[in-house]
Amino acid sequence: MKVFVRNKDGSPLMPCESVIARLLLKQGKAKVYRRTPFAIQLNYQIEDPYLQAVEVGIDDGFEKVGISAVRKGTQGHSDEVLIKGELLLRNDVKNKKELQRVLRRNRRSKLRYRKPRYHNRGSAKRNGRLPPTPRTKKEQIWRVVNTIAKYLPISKIVYEEANFDIRKIQNPHIEGEEYQKSPIDCEWEDKKHKVLWRDRYTCQYCGEKHKKMTVDHIIPKSRGGSDAFENLVVACWNCNDDKGNRTAEEFGYPDIKGKMFKYPAHLHIGKAWLKERLSEIAPVVVIAGWETKHWRKTVRLEKTHCNDAIAMVCRGNNFVNECPLYQIQTRRRNIRQLHLANFQKGHVRRSYGRNKSKHGFRRGDLIRTKRGVAYINAIRKNGYLQYDIDGKRTAASPKNVQLIESVKPVSFFAILSPINEGVSLR
Ligand SMILES: [Zn+2]
Repeated sequence: MKVFVRNKDGSPLMPCESVIARLLLKQGKAKVYRRTPFAIQLNYQIEDPYLQAVEVGIDDGFEKVGISAVRKGTQGHSDEVLIKGELLLRNDVKNKKELQRVLRRNRRSKLRYRKPRYHNRGSAKRNGRLPPTPRTKKEQIWRVVNTIAKYLPISKIVYEEANFDIRKIQNPHIEGEEYQKSPIDCEWEDKKHKVLWRDRYTCQYCGEKHKKMTVDHIIPKSRGGSDAFENLVVACWNCNDDKGNRTAEEFGYPDIKGKMFKYPAHLHIGKAWLKERLSEIAPVVVIAGWETKHWRKTVRLEKTHCNDAIAMVCRGNNFVNECPLYQIQTRRRNIRQLHLANFQKGHVRRSYGRNKSKHGFRRGDLIRTKRGVAYINAIRKNGYLQYDIDGKRTAASPKNVQLIESVKPVSFFAILSPINEGVSLR
Protein backbone atom coordinates (compact mmCIF):
# COMPACT_ATOMS: atom_id res chain seq x y z
CA MET A 1 0.00 0.00 0.00
CA LYS A 2 1.14 3.51 -0.82
CA VAL A 3 1.73 6.12 1.88
CA PHE A 4 1.16 9.79 1.11
CA VAL A 5 4.08 12.13 1.73
CA ARG A 6 4.19 15.85 2.43
CA ASN A 7 7.23 18.06 2.26
CA LYS A 8 8.36 19.95 5.36
CA ASP A 9 6.56 23.09 4.16
CA GLY A 10 3.33 21.09 3.70
CA SER A 11 3.39 20.84 -0.08
CA PRO A 12 2.45 17.37 -1.40
CA LEU A 13 5.07 14.98 -2.82
CA MET A 14 4.63 11.69 -4.65
CA PRO A 15 3.49 8.77 -2.42
CA CYS A 16 6.02 6.16 -1.30
CA GLU A 17 5.94 2.49 -0.38
CA SER A 18 4.96 1.69 3.21
CA VAL A 19 8.38 0.11 3.84
CA ILE A 20 10.10 3.40 3.15
CA ALA A 21 7.58 5.33 5.23
CA ARG A 22 8.21 2.99 8.17
CA LEU A 23 11.96 3.52 7.84
CA LEU A 24 11.61 7.31 7.69
CA LEU A 25 9.41 7.29 10.80
CA LYS A 26 11.83 5.01 12.65
CA GLN A 27 14.80 7.24 11.84
CA GLY A 28 12.88 10.31 12.97
CA LYS A 29 13.01 11.86 9.50
CA ALA A 30 9.22 12.09 9.29
CA LYS A 31 6.15 12.31 11.47
CA VAL A 32 2.64 10.94 11.06
CA TYR A 33 0.40 13.55 9.45
CA ARG A 34 -2.83 11.59 9.20
CA ARG A 35 -3.95 7.98 9.78
CA THR A 36 -6.65 7.45 7.17
CA PRO A 37 -5.50 7.72 4.46
CA PHE A 38 -2.05 7.22 5.97
CA ALA A 39 0.16 10.22 5.32
CA ILE A 40 3.53 11.35 6.68
CA GLN A 41 5.21 14.73 6.74
CA LEU A 42 8.98 14.99 6.31
CA ASN A 43 11.09 16.75 8.92
CA TYR A 44 13.44 18.05 6.23
CA GLN A 45 12.74 20.01 3.08
CA ILE A 46 13.22 18.47 -0.37
CA GLU A 47 14.11 21.14 -2.92
CA ASP A 48 12.92 20.62 -6.51
CA PRO A 49 10.99 17.41 -5.84
CA TYR A 50 10.21 14.96 -8.67
CA LEU A 51 6.46 15.14 -9.33
CA GLN A 52 4.31 13.15 -11.73
CA ALA A 53 0.90 13.94 -13.21
CA VAL A 54 -1.93 13.11 -10.79
CA GLU A 55 -5.47 13.46 -12.09
CA VAL A 56 -8.61 13.61 -9.98
CA GLY A 57 -11.87 12.22 -11.36
CA ILE A 58 -15.27 13.35 -10.07
CA ASP A 59 -18.46 11.54 -11.02
CA ASP A 60 -21.19 13.86 -9.80
CA GLY A 61 -24.47 12.33 -8.70
CA PHE A 62 -27.57 13.09 -6.71
CA GLU A 63 -26.86 11.12 -3.51
CA LYS A 64 -23.30 9.91 -3.98
CA VAL A 65 -20.27 11.27 -5.76
CA GLY A 66 -17.46 9.05 -6.99
CA ILE A 67 -14.00 10.49 -6.44
CA SER A 68 -10.65 9.10 -7.54
CA ALA A 69 -7.06 10.23 -7.72
CA VAL A 70 -4.87 8.51 -10.29
CA ARG A 71 -1.15 8.77 -11.01
CA LYS A 72 -0.78 8.87 -14.78
CA GLY A 73 1.84 6.50 -16.14
CA THR A 74 4.34 7.91 -18.61
CA GLN A 75 5.75 6.22 -21.73
CA GLY A 76 3.29 3.35 -21.88
CA HIS A 77 3.44 2.52 -18.17
CA SER A 78 0.12 1.81 -16.54
CA ASP A 79 -1.78 4.30 -14.39
CA GLU A 80 -2.11 3.78 -10.66
CA VAL A 81 -5.21 4.48 -8.58
CA LEU A 82 -4.07 6.20 -5.37
CA ILE A 83 -7.39 7.22 -3.79
CA LYS A 84 -10.84 5.96 -4.58
CA GLY A 85 -14.05 6.53 -2.69
CA GLU A 86 -17.64 7.55 -2.57
CA LEU A 87 -18.70 10.81 -1.00
CA LEU A 88 -22.11 10.80 0.67
CA LEU A 89 -23.96 14.00 -0.09
CA ARG A 90 -26.09 15.67 2.53
CA ASN A 91 -29.82 15.68 2.02
CA ASP A 92 -30.84 17.25 5.32
CA VAL A 93 -30.20 20.88 4.46
CA LYS A 94 -33.75 21.66 3.36
CA ASN A 95 -35.25 20.42 6.64
CA LYS A 96 -32.67 22.25 8.69
CA LYS A 97 -33.34 25.50 6.86
CA GLU A 98 -37.06 25.07 7.40
CA LEU A 99 -36.56 24.53 11.13
CA GLN A 100 -34.36 27.60 11.24
CA ARG A 101 -37.13 29.63 9.59
CA VAL A 102 -39.76 28.43 12.08
CA LEU A 103 -37.55 29.17 15.07
CA ARG A 104 -36.64 32.60 13.77
CA ARG A 105 -40.25 33.48 13.08
CA ASN A 106 -41.20 32.37 16.58
CA ARG A 107 -38.48 34.49 18.17
CA ARG A 108 -39.24 37.58 16.14
CA SER A 109 -42.99 37.32 16.77
CA LYS A 110 -42.23 38.12 20.39
CA LEU A 111 -40.54 41.42 19.58
CA ARG A 112 -43.70 43.50 19.77
CA TYR A 113 -42.21 46.93 19.42
CA ARG A 114 -39.93 46.18 16.52
CA LYS A 115 -40.87 47.53 13.11
CA PRO A 116 -41.54 44.65 10.69
CA ARG A 117 -38.56 43.91 8.48
CA TYR A 118 -38.57 41.61 5.51
CA HIS A 119 -36.43 40.56 2.56
CA ASN A 120 -33.38 41.64 4.51
CA ARG A 121 -31.16 38.62 3.87
CA GLY A 122 -28.09 39.69 1.92
CA SER A 123 -27.72 36.31 0.24
CA ALA A 124 -31.25 36.39 -1.18
CA LYS A 125 -30.47 39.55 -3.13
CA ARG A 126 -26.98 38.64 -4.27
CA ASN A 127 -26.34 37.87 -7.93
CA GLY A 128 -25.57 34.27 -8.84
CA ARG A 129 -26.91 33.09 -5.51
CA LEU A 130 -27.02 29.33 -4.97
CA PRO A 131 -29.88 27.77 -2.99
CA PRO A 132 -28.68 26.05 0.21
CA THR A 133 -29.01 22.41 -0.89
CA PRO A 134 -27.08 22.56 -4.19
CA ARG A 135 -24.57 24.86 -2.55
CA THR A 136 -23.88 22.40 0.26
CA LYS A 137 -23.52 19.52 -2.17
CA LYS A 138 -21.08 21.32 -4.42
CA GLU A 139 -19.20 22.65 -1.41
CA GLN A 140 -18.78 19.10 -0.11
CA ILE A 141 -17.15 18.03 -3.38
CA TRP A 142 -14.86 21.03 -3.28
CA ARG A 143 -13.86 20.30 0.32
CA VAL A 144 -12.90 16.71 -0.52
CA VAL A 145 -10.79 17.70 -3.55
CA ASN A 146 -9.18 20.40 -1.44
CA THR A 147 -8.28 17.75 1.16
CA ILE A 148 -6.82 15.45 -1.50
CA ALA A 149 -4.70 18.38 -2.67
CA LYS A 150 -2.97 18.24 0.71
CA TYR A 151 -1.69 14.71 -0.06
CA LEU A 152 -1.18 14.72 -3.79
CA PRO A 153 0.09 17.24 -6.35
CA ILE A 154 -3.07 17.43 -8.47
CA SER A 155 -2.31 18.38 -12.07
CA LYS A 156 -5.79 18.08 -13.59
CA ILE A 157 -9.40 17.58 -12.50
CA VAL A 158 -11.83 15.64 -14.70
CA TYR A 159 -15.44 16.40 -13.86
CA GLU A 160 -18.51 14.56 -15.09
CA GLU A 161 -21.75 16.39 -14.85
CA ALA A 162 -24.62 14.58 -13.11
CA ASN A 163 -26.54 15.01 -16.32
CA PHE A 164 -25.47 16.72 -19.48
CA ASP A 165 -25.97 20.38 -19.98
CA ILE A 166 -29.18 20.86 -21.92
CA ARG A 167 -27.92 24.20 -23.16
CA LYS A 168 -25.50 22.28 -25.33
CA ILE A 169 -28.46 21.32 -27.51
CA GLN A 170 -28.55 24.86 -28.79
CA ASN A 171 -24.79 25.24 -28.81
CA PRO A 172 -23.24 21.85 -29.48
CA HIS A 173 -19.70 22.93 -28.73
CA ILE A 174 -18.26 20.26 -26.49
CA GLU A 175 -15.28 20.71 -24.24
CA GLY A 176 -12.54 18.14 -23.82
CA GLU A 177 -9.99 16.92 -26.30
CA GLU A 178 -11.03 13.31 -25.76
CA TYR A 179 -14.39 14.01 -27.29
CA GLN A 180 -13.10 14.31 -30.82
CA LYS A 181 -10.90 11.27 -30.52
CA SER A 182 -13.72 8.87 -29.53
CA PRO A 183 -14.20 6.10 -32.05
CA ILE A 184 -18.02 6.17 -31.83
CA ASP A 185 -20.70 8.41 -33.35
CA CYS A 186 -20.55 11.10 -30.69
CA GLU A 187 -23.44 13.21 -31.80
CA TRP A 188 -25.93 10.37 -32.00
CA GLU A 189 -24.72 8.81 -28.71
CA ASP A 190 -25.12 12.15 -27.00
CA LYS A 191 -28.60 12.62 -28.42
CA LYS A 192 -29.62 9.09 -27.39
CA HIS A 193 -28.49 9.75 -23.84
CA LYS A 194 -30.46 12.95 -23.67
CA VAL A 195 -33.64 11.28 -24.92
CA LEU A 196 -33.20 8.34 -22.53
CA TRP A 197 -32.78 10.74 -19.63
CA ARG A 198 -35.74 12.89 -20.71
CA ASP A 199 -38.09 9.88 -20.97
CA ARG A 200 -36.75 8.41 -17.71
CA TYR A 201 -35.54 5.20 -19.40
CA THR A 202 -39.18 4.15 -19.82
CA CYS A 203 -40.71 2.74 -23.00
CA GLN A 204 -43.19 5.35 -24.21
CA TYR A 205 -45.35 2.72 -25.92
CA CYS A 206 -45.81 -0.01 -23.29
CA GLY A 207 -44.55 1.84 -20.17
CA GLU A 208 -42.04 -0.88 -19.28
CA LYS A 209 -38.85 0.17 -17.56
CA HIS A 210 -36.52 -2.75 -16.92
CA LYS A 211 -35.80 -3.82 -20.46
CA LYS A 212 -33.25 -3.07 -23.11
CA MET A 213 -34.13 0.34 -24.46
CA THR A 214 -33.67 1.94 -27.83
CA VAL A 215 -34.50 5.34 -29.19
CA ASP A 216 -37.32 5.27 -31.74
CA HIS A 217 -38.24 7.74 -34.49
CA ILE A 218 -41.93 8.63 -34.22
CA ILE A 219 -42.02 9.17 -37.98
CA PRO A 220 -39.47 6.65 -39.28
CA LYS A 221 -36.34 8.00 -40.90
CA SER A 222 -37.09 6.04 -44.06
CA ARG A 223 -40.31 8.01 -44.40
CA GLY A 224 -38.78 11.42 -43.94
CA GLY A 225 -38.70 11.63 -40.12
CA SER A 226 -35.93 13.79 -38.69
CA ASP A 227 -33.43 13.34 -35.85
CA ALA A 228 -34.99 16.27 -33.97
CA PHE A 229 -35.80 15.74 -30.30
CA GLU A 230 -39.54 16.07 -30.94
CA ASN A 231 -39.35 13.07 -33.27
CA LEU A 232 -37.49 10.84 -30.82
CA VAL A 233 -38.88 8.77 -27.95
CA VAL A 234 -37.62 5.87 -25.87
CA ALA A 235 -38.96 2.44 -26.85
CA CYS A 236 -38.10 -1.07 -25.73
CA TRP A 237 -36.75 -3.55 -28.25
CA ASN A 238 -40.10 -5.36 -28.54
CA CYS A 239 -42.16 -2.25 -29.25
CA ASN A 240 -39.57 -0.92 -31.66
CA ASP A 241 -39.60 -4.23 -33.50
CA ASP A 242 -43.42 -4.39 -33.62
CA LYS A 243 -43.69 -0.83 -34.82
CA GLY A 244 -41.30 -1.45 -37.67
CA ASN A 245 -41.73 1.01 -40.51
CA ARG A 246 -45.00 2.48 -39.24
CA THR A 247 -45.50 5.92 -37.73
CA ALA A 248 -46.61 6.14 -34.09
CA GLU A 249 -50.12 7.02 -35.29
CA GLU A 250 -50.32 3.96 -37.51
CA PHE A 251 -48.97 1.89 -34.63
CA GLY A 252 -51.93 3.00 -32.52
CA TYR A 253 -50.35 5.78 -30.45
CA PRO A 254 -51.45 9.08 -32.03
CA ASP A 255 -50.73 11.11 -28.86
CA ILE A 256 -47.05 10.26 -28.56
CA LYS A 257 -44.73 13.21 -28.96
CA GLY A 258 -41.16 13.89 -28.00
CA LYS A 259 -41.36 16.19 -24.98
CA MET A 260 -39.43 19.40 -24.61
CA PHE A 261 -36.63 19.55 -22.08
CA LYS A 262 -37.04 21.07 -18.69
CA TYR A 263 -33.91 21.88 -16.83
CA PRO A 264 -33.68 23.58 -13.45
CA ALA A 265 -31.47 26.64 -13.79
CA HIS A 266 -29.94 26.35 -10.33
CA LEU A 267 -28.31 23.03 -11.25
CA HIS A 268 -26.42 24.81 -13.96
CA ILE A 269 -25.38 27.59 -11.59
CA GLY A 270 -24.16 24.93 -9.14
CA LYS A 271 -21.93 23.34 -11.76
CA ALA A 272 -20.52 26.66 -12.85
CA TRP A 273 -19.82 27.54 -9.22
CA LEU A 274 -18.05 24.22 -8.60
CA LYS A 275 -16.00 24.43 -11.79
CA GLU A 276 -14.80 27.86 -10.82
CA ARG A 277 -13.83 26.80 -7.32
CA LEU A 278 -12.10 23.64 -8.56
CA SER A 279 -10.13 25.53 -11.18
CA GLU A 280 -8.40 27.35 -8.31
CA ILE A 281 -6.86 23.97 -7.36
CA ALA A 282 -6.04 22.63 -10.85
CA PRO A 283 -7.28 22.97 -14.45
CA VAL A 284 -10.75 21.42 -14.89
CA VAL A 285 -11.90 19.33 -17.87
CA VAL A 286 -15.63 18.61 -18.20
CA ILE A 287 -16.78 15.47 -19.94
CA ALA A 288 -20.23 14.06 -20.75
CA GLY A 289 -21.87 11.09 -19.04
CA TRP A 290 -21.93 8.79 -22.05
CA GLU A 291 -18.20 9.36 -22.52
CA THR A 292 -17.47 8.02 -19.03
CA LYS A 293 -19.72 5.06 -19.74
CA HIS A 294 -17.71 4.33 -22.88
CA TRP A 295 -14.39 4.35 -21.00
CA ARG A 296 -15.79 2.30 -18.13
CA LYS A 297 -16.89 -0.38 -20.58
CA THR A 298 -13.49 -0.29 -22.29
CA VAL A 299 -11.70 -1.14 -19.04
CA ARG A 300 -14.50 -3.55 -17.97
CA LEU A 301 -15.48 -2.08 -14.63
CA GLU A 302 -18.78 -2.53 -12.83
CA LYS A 303 -21.11 0.45 -12.78
CA THR A 304 -20.50 2.37 -9.55
CA HIS A 305 -19.81 6.06 -9.00
CA CYS A 306 -16.32 5.19 -7.85
CA ASN A 307 -15.51 3.11 -10.94
CA ASP A 308 -16.83 5.87 -13.18
CA ALA A 309 -14.46 8.28 -11.47
CA ILE A 310 -11.55 5.91 -12.16
CA ALA A 311 -12.56 5.19 -15.77
CA MET A 312 -12.86 8.85 -16.73
CA VAL A 313 -9.27 9.47 -15.64
CA CYS A 314 -7.68 6.26 -16.95
CA ARG A 315 -9.47 6.52 -20.32
CA GLY A 316 -8.72 3.01 -21.54
CA ASN A 317 -5.13 2.84 -20.20
CA ASN A 318 -4.01 -0.12 -18.13
CA PHE A 319 -4.17 0.68 -14.47
CA VAL A 320 -3.23 -0.74 -11.07
CA ASN A 321 -6.19 -0.63 -8.70
CA GLU A 322 -4.98 -1.80 -5.29
CA CYS A 323 -5.83 1.03 -2.94
CA PRO A 324 -8.62 0.59 -0.38
CA LEU A 325 -12.11 1.88 -1.04
CA TYR A 326 -13.09 4.79 1.17
CA GLN A 327 -16.41 6.09 2.28
CA ILE A 328 -15.92 9.83 2.38
CA GLN A 329 -17.96 12.03 4.67
CA THR A 330 -17.82 15.70 5.47
CA ARG A 331 -18.52 16.99 8.94
CA ARG A 332 -21.11 19.68 9.37
CA ARG A 333 -19.35 22.81 10.53
CA ASN A 334 -22.20 24.07 12.66
CA ILE A 335 -20.53 27.36 13.41
CA ARG A 336 -23.38 29.80 12.83
CA GLN A 337 -26.09 28.37 15.04
CA LEU A 338 -26.64 30.94 17.77
CA HIS A 339 -30.10 29.93 18.91
CA LEU A 340 -31.28 26.46 19.80
CA ALA A 341 -34.79 25.05 19.81
CA ASN A 342 -34.79 24.62 23.59
CA PHE A 343 -33.20 27.21 25.81
CA GLN A 344 -31.23 26.17 28.82
CA LYS A 345 -32.16 27.64 32.19
CA GLY A 346 -30.04 30.67 33.03
CA HIS A 347 -29.57 31.55 29.33
CA VAL A 348 -26.46 29.43 29.05
CA ARG A 349 -25.54 28.46 25.52
CA ARG A 350 -24.90 24.77 25.18
CA SER A 351 -23.76 22.51 22.38
CA TYR A 352 -26.69 20.76 20.84
CA GLY A 353 -27.02 17.00 20.87
CA ARG A 354 -24.72 14.50 22.47
CA ASN A 355 -22.00 14.44 19.86
CA LYS A 356 -19.26 15.29 22.29
CA SER A 357 -18.49 13.45 25.51
CA LYS A 358 -17.33 14.93 28.80
CA HIS A 359 -13.92 13.45 28.10
CA GLY A 360 -13.63 15.15 24.72
CA PHE A 361 -14.49 12.23 22.45
CA ARG A 362 -16.64 12.96 19.42
CA ARG A 363 -18.67 10.85 17.08
CA GLY A 364 -16.41 9.59 14.27
CA ASP A 365 -13.22 9.47 16.36
CA LEU A 366 -10.99 6.46 15.79
CA ILE A 367 -10.31 4.77 19.13
CA ARG A 368 -8.37 1.80 20.48
CA THR A 369 -10.46 -0.32 22.83
CA LYS A 370 -9.79 -3.57 24.64
CA ARG A 371 -11.52 -5.40 21.80
CA GLY A 372 -9.75 -3.63 18.94
CA VAL A 373 -9.74 -0.48 16.84
CA ALA A 374 -13.08 1.10 15.92
CA TYR A 375 -14.88 4.33 15.10
CA ILE A 376 -17.23 5.85 17.68
CA ASN A 377 -20.69 5.85 16.17
CA ALA A 378 -22.62 7.34 19.10
CA ILE A 379 -22.11 8.77 22.56
CA ARG A 380 -24.60 7.38 25.02
CA LYS A 381 -26.48 9.31 27.65
CA ASN A 382 -24.37 7.77 30.42
CA GLY A 383 -21.19 8.95 28.69
CA TYR A 384 -20.24 5.58 27.24
CA LEU A 385 -18.79 5.48 23.74
CA GLN A 386 -20.64 3.21 21.38
CA TYR A 387 -18.85 1.36 18.60
CA ASP A 388 -19.28 -1.69 16.41
CA ILE A 389 -16.69 -4.42 16.30
CA ASP A 390 -16.96 -7.64 14.27
CA GLY A 391 -20.52 -6.64 13.46
CA LYS A 392 -21.46 -6.44 17.15
CA ARG A 393 -22.55 -3.25 18.86
CA THR A 394 -20.83 -2.49 22.16
CA ALA A 395 -19.88 0.48 24.29
CA ALA A 396 -16.94 1.32 26.51
CA SER A 397 -16.22 3.83 29.21
CA PRO A 398 -14.06 6.74 28.01
CA LYS A 399 -11.56 5.79 30.73
CA ASN A 400 -10.83 2.48 29.01
CA VAL A 401 -10.13 3.70 25.49
CA GLN A 402 -7.35 5.63 23.77
CA LEU A 403 -7.85 8.15 21.03
CA ILE A 404 -6.00 7.22 17.84
CA GLU A 405 -7.26 9.99 15.59
CA SER A 406 -9.93 12.60 16.10
CA VAL A 407 -12.58 13.07 13.44
CA LYS A 408 -11.59 15.47 10.64
CA PRO A 409 -13.72 17.94 8.64
CA VAL A 410 -13.38 15.50 5.74
CA SER A 411 -13.19 11.87 6.86
CA PHE A 412 -12.10 8.86 4.87
CA PHE A 413 -13.49 5.67 6.34
CA ALA A 414 -11.86 2.58 4.88
CA ILE A 415 -14.55 0.09 3.95
CA LEU A 416 -12.89 -3.12 5.10
CA SER A 417 -15.78 -4.74 6.90
CA PRO A 418 -19.40 -3.78 7.54
CA ILE A 419 -18.48 -2.14 10.88
CA ASN A 420 -17.15 1.07 9.45
CA GLU A 421 -20.19 1.75 7.33
CA GLY A 422 -22.28 2.59 10.36
CA VAL A 423 -20.58 5.87 11.21
CA SER A 424 -22.72 8.87 10.46
CA LEU A 425 -21.43 12.36 11.02
CA ARG A 426 -24.71 14.14 10.52
ZN1 LIG B 1 -42.31 -1.23 -24.98
